[in-house]
Amino acid sequence: MDPVYLDNNATTRVDAAVVSAMLPYFTEQFGNASSIHAFGAEVGAGLRTARRQLQALLGAEFDHEIVYTGGGTESDNTAILSALETQGGRNEIVTSTVEHPAILSLCAWLEKTRAAKVHYIGVDARGRLDIDAYRKALGPRTAIASIMWANNETGTIFPVETLAALAHEAGALFHTDAVQAVGKIKIDLSGSEIDMLSLSGHKLHGPKGIGALYVRRGVRLRPLIRGGHQERGRRAGTENAPGIVGLGAAAALAQEHMEDENTRVRDLRDRLEQGLVQRISHAVVTGDIENRLPNTANVAFEYIEGEAILLLLNKAGIAASSGSACTSGSLEPSHVLRAMKVPYTAAHGAIRFSFSRENTEADVDRVLEVMPGIIAQLRQMSPFWDGESKTRTAFTPTYA
Ligand SMILES: *Cc1c(COP(=O)(O)O)cnc(C)c1O
Repeated sequence: MDPVYLDNNATTRVDAAVVSAMLPYFTEQFGNASSIHAFGAEVGAGLRTARRQLQALLGAEFDHEIVYTGGGTESDNTAILSALETQGGRNEIVTSTVEHPAILSLCAWLEKTRAAKVHYIGVDARGRLDIDAYRKALGPRTAIASIMWANNETGTIFPVETLAALAHEAGALFHTDAVQAVGKIKIDLSGSEIDMLSLSGHKLHGPKGIGALYVRRGVRLRPLIRGGHQERGRRAGTENAPGIVGLGAAAALAQEHMEDENTRVRDLRDRLEQGLVQRISHAVVTGDIENRLPNTANVAFEYIEGEAILLLLNKAGIAASSGSACTSGSLEPSHVLRAMKVPYTAAHGAIRFSFSRENTEADVDRVLEVMPGIIAQLRQMSPFWDGESKTRTAFTPTYA
């Protein structure tokens, strides 16, 4: 049987059409875009096409608002570090407790080494930001507010336009880690207040190791990497031409498939989620079911360990995740579910199923077929499980 891949928020398969677009840039079109000769010029043309494709997906008004980077992590680091230098001595950062480690680890390091003050804004049980606390944390010392567009573990979407406007009222810059949002939901940066936005190729069927930082025209950027004049001096180093061309092609495909993502893929996700909750007792959907990515389901199975579920799923040829790849391997439940105050008995058994346009009805059927058996088997061995009569924890499920 074909394996079932439901871990697309960790990474996606590079689309065959993206690979085809990239291949010539390893062979015939291997030139350095900065060179004067024909080899360089050919590559330059490819890079310009890619830039227009990405610009179109983002609704960016100017093509030079896009700076290519080595991925989402580098984009996030560039945005925050730059703001601390360009914002006239302001040394405070406002972010959330549920950001990706690309933001959280950097912030922890800045607190330790640069005397930056970081305000971590909490979320409610559905993972929605505490807007009041966010507003209060902003002030004359805030250099930048950085709030993700959509959460990688639960899919919960944040009101980034509102948050950007509030940051501006305090004279701060606004950055959003949109790595999970780009390609899945409509983004239109024309007329937006967002100053900077991070994205990554491998989360939208493009290659790994390539990403971009959108920087609104007029926003100053202090480069993270210094050297040559590539990217108008904002990110030095010979362009990753195959990667950039691949990212452009992936952006064009994402735009084409956006409708599918928000109809067929969403239906698959909903069918899986509803099927699991119907077939398995003490299973609860976490996240903001009214406002989340169409491809992400996060279901907590109470009284068992997520890692054990994943191992048995893997044996059955099904790939899922217990949250962010960076949390798996540790025995602590995900920082996102802890921030949402999901009780330990449930948070430990949380599984993220993340879909892509490559998934099918058959994939959903397979999971629904094997999951009840896996959960029953593990609960039988769980010291915390004392049968179906066990009363639920005080946790109110977000899904009826
Ligand atoms: C994957 C991910 C990143 C990191 O992107 P890389 O390209 O892997 O460095 C950052 N933020 C979020 C929300 C992600 O899901």
